[in-house]
Amino acid sequence: MQSNTNDLIVILGTGGTIAGAGDDVGYVAGQISVADLVTAVPALAARQLEAEQVAQLDSKDMSHAVWRLLAQRVAYHLARPEVAGVVVTHGTDTLEETAYFLHRVLAPGKPVVLTAAMRPVTSLQSDGPQNLLDAVTVAAHPGASGVLAVLQGRVHGPVEVRKAQPFALDAFSSGEAGPLALVLEGQVRVLRHWPSCAPLGLDVVAADPELWPRVDIVASHAGADGVVVDALVAAGARGLVIEGTGNATVHASLLEALKRARAAGLPVLRATRCTGAAVVGAPEGALPSAGELSPVKARVELMLGLLA
Ligand code: ASP
Repeated sequence: MQSNTNDLIVILGTGGTIAGAGDDVGYVAGQISVADLVTAVPALAARQLEAEQVAQLDSKDMSHAVWRLLAQRVAYHLARPEVAGVVVTHGTDTLEETAYFLHRVLAPGKPVVLTAAMRPVTSLQSDGPQNLLDAVTVAAHPGASGVLAVLQGRVHGPVEVRKAQPFALDAFSSGEAGPLALVLEGQVRVLRHWPSCAPLGLDVVAADPELWPRVDIVASHAGADGVVVDALVAAGARGLVIEGTGNATVHASLLEALKRARAAGLPVLRATRCTGAAVVGAPEGALPSAGELSPVKARVELMLGLLA
């Protein structure tokens, strides 16, 4: 449906459980088209909407190629004056990574709202239709901007959002920061500022994704050593994120290998496996801190930094 006003919302489908079919555990993600997802929500009939299928996958299998295509399609639609905002339907497993990737590449002045579901549309507990309706509400909300995630009536920012529960319906959290806003019966109640950052720009991801620098995540744990780090360096890793214990502390045996990797020119970021809060401080001699970024978001940051 076309619109001449500036209240058009574009919904880009990428798959996930929100487009899945089957029972609550044994379903297959990415089965239903985004156009059908929109049609299944009667309350959306009153909106000016366009739907486009960008991908149809289980987001556990998200690729850099789909990320680049998605960023290009989002940027294309945002540049249209008649478009007020973009909604992206996504799987829950890697939604936080996609949100952070789009945030760093685009940092849009209009809202880009990711949404998802923990149950397929065929479930008695299906949460997708309400999440989609809420996401469109936020995308059309005057003043909303930046990359956002809307689930279970909460609006999360791209830096803080993370999937914190593997199966519960209320699976997403912004940790100690809390949500940016709430969606209550179709009304948006803003609690904090919309996200802002200096975007790297779409040109940063212009190269063939096959050529993007390899950045891996290595976990520190009891009994850890440097074998994985040495193997990754030998395999051509260009950067490493260490998922540290506690306040991003690293096993001494693993640290030796990471120091060797740094001496060979690889950037390394130190994140924590603890959830919900940032790494504090930078003791002398410690590896550079990922600060408030989780290991998976630190990986995106390091990879985009190398691309830039
Ligand atoms: N594996 C699914 C996905 O991330 C899970 C979900 O969407 O809830 O695509």
